[in-house]
Amino acid sequence: MIFRIPVSRINWTTSSFLIGTFILTLTAVPFYLWYFGIDWFQFALFFVLLAAIGFSVTLGYHRLFSHMTFRAKLPVRLFTLIFGAAAFENSVLMWASEHRRHHKHVDHDEDPYDITKGFFHAHIGWLLFKLLPQPPFDNVADLKKDPLVMWQHRHVHLLAVMIGFVLPTLAGFAWDGWVGALGGFLIGGVARVVVLQHGTFLINSACHTIGRQPYSTRCSARDSFFLALFTFGEGYHNYHHQFQHDYRNGVKPWQWDPTKWLIWILSKLGLVGGLRRVPQEAIESTQAQVRDLRSKVES
Ligand SMILES: [Zn+2]
Ligand SMILES: [Zn+2]
Repeated sequence: MIFRIPVSRINWTTSSFLIGTFILTLTAVPFYLWYFGIDWFQFALFFVLLAAIGFSVTLGYHRLFSHMTFRAKLPVRLFTLIFGAAAFENSVLMWASEHRRHHKHVDHDEDPYDITKGFFHAHIGWLLFKLLPQPPFDNVADLKKDPLVMWQHRHVHLLAVMIGFVLPTLAGFAWDGWVGALGGFLIGGVARVVVLQHGTFLINSACHTIGRQPYSTRCSARDSFFLALFTFGEGYHNYHHQFQHDYRNGVKPWQWDPTKWLIWILSKLGLVGGLRRVPQEAIESTQAQVRDLRSKVES
């Protein structure tokens, strides 16, 4: 132990990547922009990759593979597996296994990002330090049978580097030679990884800390419009923990949930189907129960 940091438990590879990309985003990225100026192409590349990879995580990793809230045809499955890898959040198999464990044991010891161990632990600490041995993939038997998922699991690091870093670097080079390549690497690659990762991490930390609990007070998960803005709609986390098999997180039609809208659009295009919805009466009766419970506690 140095300064109460459990050195022997540090996950060196993950920690170096998370801290290294974060420092580069705060130093090299602003320096590049100051030195070479702002180029609209670099920003377009940043946002296109942010959307492609972000939706691959929320729509693919989370709502499709972890919770099976709808069925998807090959193009959607392949796209989300390939681009999802570039979020550097490991394979679908690993992600879904940890996420299903989070739902099952939320706020308890076996929850990998247990908020009761503190905001920092739930946000990033659980990745920097491995306090427990990696549990077996015993809750993803369905995914193990999927050859595409297993292919992604075997090649996830190569896919991540190719799509996450090589692709924006090559696009930048094609646009503006070596200066463009450096910009593509730093802005579309490094800064985009950091923004997206901390967006995902916020769901595990802030969405279990800030916001309302209209659907359940049994666990720490909360609904927040503000957090939904930065997380492709995943901020309605209280609803999601209560009804994890619903393809919507922001269940009200006006709630900001671009992932739900994209799933709906893909269903109209025939690329996905079998969208699962909790019946309206069940949602309303759950809300009424929570209101009753609250008024009893307050009176
Ligand atoms: Zn959660
Ligand atoms: Zn979930």
